[in-house]
Amino acid sequence: MEIVLLGTAAAEAWPAPFCRCDACQEARRRGGKSIRTRSGALIDSSVKVDFGPDTSSQMQREGRDLWAVTTLIFTHGHDDHFTPAELQYRKPMFVAGDLPATLHVYGSAEVMDALRAAYVDAEEIGAEFHAPLTPLAPVVTSDGTEILPLPATHVPGTLLLRLTRNGKSVFYGHDTGEIPEETVRALSGSPLDLAIFDCTYGATDHESVVHMGLAAVVRTIERLRKVGAVTDKTRLMGTHISHHSGLLHEPLEERLRPHGIDLAYDGLTIILE
Ligand SMILES: [Zn+2]
Ligand SMILES: [Zn+2]
Ligand SMILES: [Zn+2]
Repeated sequence: MEIVLLGTAAAEAWPAPFCRCDACQEARRRGGKSIRTRSGALIDSSVKVDFGPDTSSQMQREGRDLWAVTTLIFTHGHDDHFTPAELQYRKPMFVAGDLPATLHVYGSAEVMDALRAAYVDAEEIGAEFHAPLTPLAPVVTSDGTEILPLPATHVPGTLLLRLTRNGKSVFYGHDTGEIPEETVRALSGSPLDLAIFDCTYGATDHESVVHMGLAAVVRTIERLRKVGAVTDKTRLMGTHISHHSGLLHEPLEERLRPHGIDLAYDGLTIILE
């Protein structure tokens, strides 16, 4: 399984366009891993998680395309994850040569309603909008991906995901505060190969109910370890980082390392074998 983390920022990106805080200015100077675009991932070139406003430029940056994507899963409807107007570029008038195969689109009832409210016509873009995902009810897609939608502590209609393909399992765990007990229960007993956590607040003391920082991530990992979802073989990753957290990539990476957590950066490619 190949997971490309295309974007690793919180909603306003880092540097944020209207911000001159020290963290944004330093990111502008350093470039590289300090530049974070809006969060999303590409799995095995065929599964796209979220479709935020930076998606097209992320594909250009990676030298890749979305032609082979057959499954699109939205975690929720916040603007940094959900830019439905961009899907119009699947229309035949915007594609030369062979058209991509049918795109199967999944999301909560709130997301599917928002898609229709944005006048995205499934037929025009060669897509099939599936029945809304409901928490704890697994779905297997046409490309053989098992989606286990999981409750989050965020806005209504937000889902965390356990994605399983070819025997490998990934917990896609943002945006959320500390995860609900029913999510821990649903993950229990099945070891994860990779677990990606919301680390919006970096290593600061800031706590909220809708996002996490390092202390909350560590507590969450311990809860998942107790139920056998996180094991010594699980790769742990923090992402969705806000400039309000202050620490640029390398210093934040050093704060996460003693806890066995890696810090995501844009373009990070993880191979699970
Ligand atoms: Zn977000
Ligand atoms: Zn800033
Ligand atoms: Zn959100």
